[in-house]
Amino acid sequence: MERETADGVVTGRVFSIAMRTRFRGVTAREGVLVRGAAGWGEFSPFAEYGPRECARWWAACHEAAEVGWPEPVRDRVPVNVTVPAVGPEQAARIVAEAGCSTAKVKIAEKGQGDADDIARVEAVRDALGPRGKVRVDVNGAWRVDHAVRMIRELDRFDLEYVEQPCATLEELALVRRRVDVPIAADESIRRAEDPLKVRAAGAADIVVLKVQPLGGVRPALRVAEECGLPVVVSSAVETSVGLAAGVALAAALPELPYACGLATMHLLATDVCADPLLPVDGHLPVRRPEVDEARLAAVEVPARAWLERMAAARREWRARAL
Ligand SMILES: [Mg+2]
Repeated sequence: MERETADGVVTGRVFSIAMRTRFRGVTAREGVLVRGAAGWGEFSPFAEYGPRECARWWAACHEAAEVGWPEPVRDRVPVNVTVPAVGPEQAARIVAEAGCSTAKVKIAEKGQGDADDIARVEAVRDALGPRGKVRVDVNGAWRVDHAVRMIRELDRFDLEYVEQPCATLEELALVRRRVDVPIAADESIRRAEDPLKVRAAGAADIVVLKVQPLGGVRPALRVAEECGLPVVVSSAVETSVGLAAGVALAAALPELPYACGLATMHLLATDVCADPLLPVDGHLPVRRPEVDEARLAAVEVPARAWLERMAAARREWRARAL
């Protein structure tokens, strides 16, 4: 069991790792690593989440540390390279260096126009060749008419799917009825019940699932089964400890028709493992990397607030019997 001190705080190792580029407005990724009977677990909810939401992130950490994961049905997981909102030359270079046959292109970024997005997607398509797959991620930035116009325009580069073109389920459903390109829901899914809402609204063809917000690999597998839509497993930009849980989910899903968004290790300046989960030939191996004591010590910070946050999440998790 997790060791608890007299004042109710679970012991763990708090880390802070610099981001190579700003993500969700933060420049460092922080969280807690907990060692249990089954291995290491990661608790790294984003700053804006309170105890109720954090309880699920804790449940995922507890599963990793104390329970372990279901048997995999595959030994490697295809992953996509993510292309940020950079110029076309740099976009082509990122794709060429990654060695992945699927690319996710970030578009509709603030301060850029449709022409920038079109040029970036075109460069990525050229770099991948006709057999590669190109998907775009809009992060909910478009209104319906803009989305329909741009999706039709970008589909001349043969899109695999469009991720979260608009913010709301109603808008996604409207767009989905007007275009032929499949729609994936990402930001619309934050809780276990959300994929069913996405499906009921006719808002998407594909759901993007992340382990920590859904409370672990097993709960995420149940969500996938109940929802019935194809799943793309994505990370919450974790260390290799957290990424391994995403890999375990992708490895245990009965069907995995799309490359996953788990190749995010390079977004962090360093890792807590000596052998980080980095893609090889466009795939992540299904394994749990060992935490390296020296590497963990190098990013460890004294942050009692994180341990208190984790303890509050654990109390909430126990109270609700998640
Ligand atoms: Mg997304």
